[in-house]
Amino acid sequence: MNIAIDGPAGAGKSTIAKLAAKGLGFLYVDTGAMYRAIGLYLLENEVDYNEESQLLEALDKINIEIKYVDGVQRVILNDRDVSEAIRREEVGQAASTTSALKPVRAKLLDLQRDIAAKNDVIMDGRDIGTNILPNAELKIYLTASVEVRAQRRYKELVEKGETPDFEEVKKGIEQRDYQDMNRDIAPLRQAEDAVLVDTSDMTIDEVVARITELAEERR
Ligand code: C5P
Repeated sequence: MNIAIDGPAGAGKSTIAKLAAKGLGFLYVDTGAMYRAIGLYLLENEVDYNEESQLLEALDKINIEIKYVDGVQRVILNDRDVSEAIRREEVGQAASTTSALKPVRAKLLDLQRDIAAKNDVIMDGRDIGTNILPNAELKIYLTASVEVRAQRRYKELVEKGETPDFEEVKKGIEQRDYQDMNRDIAPLRQAEDAVLVDTSDMTIDEVVARITELAEERR
């Protein structure tokens, strides 16, 4: 069984999907991490990705693998575990910019479909229900207001010991929403057959319970 969860940055997709997957005994697949790994490579190697030949050459040198250690997804970029390095804010921005490029999306499409074909998965991202797994048994569009998403992200950064500026955090989220929703290829949007879940006024437990209930109904 395949469950697709899409939605904007900061809606709580990964937290929710991880918990729901554990409860259902499914594999959790975070596709954003794959885009982040490509973004990290392009950043670190100062690739001029707007030059098609440079981008293609770089993509050829990128090998991404997904591994599970104690049920937790690890992302391996050319034999290096980058699971922590890809969490940086600048890497998220780089992922958002470079994920709009056709060759980048093409590179990850098969990898994602292959994992879903072989496992019961909850896969989260931006185009899972619309593009990667159009036949998923359950599709969720998880969202929350910009204000709430910015507050969550701000809190996360403070807990990590950083001293973020709230307005900057909010601006970053708005910019990412805009880029993800307005790109030409596989933009973020709710699939017609997706269930909309607005988490602005819901607790994590409530959202996990709702998704688990929907999954059990369709299992
Ligand atoms: O979900 P996360 O914030 O880790 O994703 C980073 C970026 O990767 C997103 O802003 C989006 O541009 C891109 N992405 C995508 N398609 C997906 C998952 C992520 O374009 N399925």
